[in-house]
Amino acid sequence: MDEEIMLSALQHYVFCPRQCALIHVEQVWAENSFTARGQQNHDRAHAGGTEERDGTRTLRALPLLSRQHGLAGVADVVELLPDGSPRPVEYKSGRAKPRLADEVQLCAQALCLEEMFATTIPEGFIYHAASHKRRAVAFTPELRQAVLDARDGVRELLRVRVLPPPAADDRCQLCSLYDECEPFAPRDLPRGYDPFSTALEEM
Ligand code: SF4
Repeated sequence: MDEEIMLSALQHYVFCPRQCALIHVEQVWAENSFTARGQQNHDRAHAGGTEERDGTRTLRALPLLSRQHGLAGVADVVELLPDGSPRPVEYKSGRAKPRLADEVQLCAQALCLEEMFATTIPEGFIYHAASHKRRAVAFTPELRQAVLDARDGVRELLRVRVLPPPAADDRCQLCSLYDECEPFAPRDLPRGYDPFSTALEEM
């Protein structure tokens, strides 16, 4: 049976398959101001514990698993409504990520929760720390399919262990792995190639 795919890998994959391979195949990780702020928010959300307000219970840092879909991870926050039905809430420090990366991650959490609670979850929420606002995300059939497509994409990356070509577009300026990735470097030269140091060595 295939190993479960981490929910965070789905988000990386949907944002940029090369970023996903750098992190989950080559084990490269770099931090920029976006990820540092995001980590602080995650640390707060992942502090664990439960609280209750107006009949809604809030569970933090809840481990998630879907054997049916082959997914695993940890939910920032899961709210249990008064009728006991769960709603995932994902904390984000910055702007919405392109290509529905955040939405896919949230919906993947819902697929796990549906299996764990034997229920159907129509929507979840993404909380943006910068604006202190949260927005609802509907778990449409298309979004659910995007989760499964991303899972299959990650699984294939882990199998072939080959770095995909760079996106080399506006995603790169948001990316914490810009320096490690070298998205605009000439592709026929090895990664890390420095023409100036090579010229000095040859003198
Ligand atoms: S720098 Fe661009 S191409 Fe490289 S991993 Fe980041 S988003 Fe992908």
